[in-house]
Amino acid sequence: MPLEYIPGIPILRPYVDPDNQPFWDAVDRHEFVLQRCSDCDVYFQPPRPMCPHCLSMDSLEWVPSSGRGEVYSFVVFAADRMAYPGMKIPYVVVLVEMEEGVRLTANIVDAEPDEVYIGMPVEVTYNSPMEGLTLYQFKKRAS
Ligand SMILES: [Zn+2]
Repeated sequence: MPLEYIPGIPILRPYVDPDNQPFWDAVDRHEFVLQRCSDCDVYFQPPRPMCPHCLSMDSLEWVPSSGRGEVYSFVVFAADRMAYPGMKIPYVVVLVEMEEGVRLTANIVDAEPDEVYIGMPVEVTYNSPMEGLTLYQFKKRAS
């Protein structure tokens, strides 16, 4: 099931700030990166200026992610009053636990709502719903 946007209603854009700018710049290039502390080898999400484990501010780096993970949780938006008005229902938002251990939220784009399950193997894909906007999303993958 592809995502369908409703014309005339603005598409939600990510909130980009100095901490997450490298992440969204990579998504624009169809690359998926995660923030990691090179001192303690911990990945974390959302991006921030300090390692939440060792509090280092000098050892943060952006590293390529496998782009692979499993659905940790999900919600099916099937009612108009709960869904974003700019998207045709039903659509599914998944919380994915990446192989690196961090969790991210996005839409899943190629699965019917009743196909999605906790533990479902997924991988990152990209979508450009309008000029100048690239979003990451998830799609099914073979286990
Ligand atoms: Zn650290």
